[in-house]
Amino acid sequence: MGHFGKTRISVDELYHGIINHDRLMLSKAITLIESRRKDDITRGAELLDKIISHSGKSIRLGITGVPGVGKSSFIESFGSQLTQKGHRLAILSIDPSSSKSGGSILGDKTRMEQLSHDPNAYIRPSPAGQTLGGVNNKTRETILLCEAAGFDIIIVETVGVGQSETAVKDMVDCFLLLMLSGGGDELQGIKRGIMEMADIIAINKSDGDNVGASKQTKKILENAVHLFPPHEINWVVPVSLCSALTKHGITEIWDDINRFIALSQSENFFKHNRQIQNAHWYRQLVDEEIKHTYFDEEKRARYRQIEAKIIANEMGVRNGLRKLFES
Ligand code: GDP
Repeated sequence: MGHFGKTRISVDELYHGIINHDRLMLSKAITLIESRRKDDITRGAELLDKIISHSGKSIRLGITGVPGVGKSSFIESFGSQLTQKGHRLAILSIDPSSSKSGGSILGDKTRMEQLSHDPNAYIRPSPAGQTLGGVNNKTRETILLCEAAGFDIIIVETVGVGQSETAVKDMVDCFLLLMLSGGGDELQGIKRGIMEMADIIAINKSDGDNVGASKQTKKILENAVHLFPPHEINWVVPVSLCSALTKHGITEIWDDINRFIALSQSENFFKHNRQIQNAHWYRQLVDEEIKHTYFDEEKRARYRQIEAKIIANEMGVRNGLRKLFES
């Protein structure tokens, strides 16, 4: 078995490796779907079609929160409990900073020391890509590959700074928001929109001297969630306290997740939601492809010329649109 890109591994070999839970093959398959080389794109599509009937049988869980809230510590404690129960857990970390700076807030494997040595856990940073659609597409495909490789819980982790949450919300079954105690008024810089996406809220670091403040924040948040638009299912977003450090409250969050999944299955939302997500996914890719194929160098230059005129108030937007498409 040669290195990827030198001796090519066939799509068939990757497929059989994945469905036989071979982690090395899974990693190589993810590298394949992340590749932008033309023939890799074709092979990736072929592989995804082969594995699709093996995918879908997992709980897809989104986890977000501001840097420092304790996401990796939480996933470490939470995830270890799950693997001890016999679950197989894949953790995909989306790092919005990675494509720009080369450095990263997330995505460092050593962040989850214990899980990174756990044979039932698989950790993979997901590159943010150049567009939001990029995040969306590669991560979604990675979810499918991990499911086909037998992982029954997929965690998609993202930094809660408001860039990729919407994309993640649109690829998971349940969205968990981690928060901290204090800062009730401005809600800790977490945008209201992100709070409204949450199916479950947990206040982490509710240990030691923090417990009192956490209980207060819990009350504030419980009031806040009642003012949010109603959930698609008959669900009131629970706010609970936890500590990734002492592991207090972690089991209860897993119980909340299971209650949520059970309810969304019984109300037929679970399947419906995934169908809508697939439709969104497809539409997004089609939109991107249209933009990509239509906007060649010349069109892009023309776009910028017209844009400059619009900015300078020398041309109306409507006329700009007409001019752009008339050529
Ligand atoms: P992330 O940036 O959201 O992934 O946050 P980390 O998991 O890296 O945690 C940030 C810091 O908070 C680290 O120093 C952790 O040790 C600490 N931390 C995380 N969870 C807890 C917790 O439940 N209680 C306390 N006291 N500290 C925590």
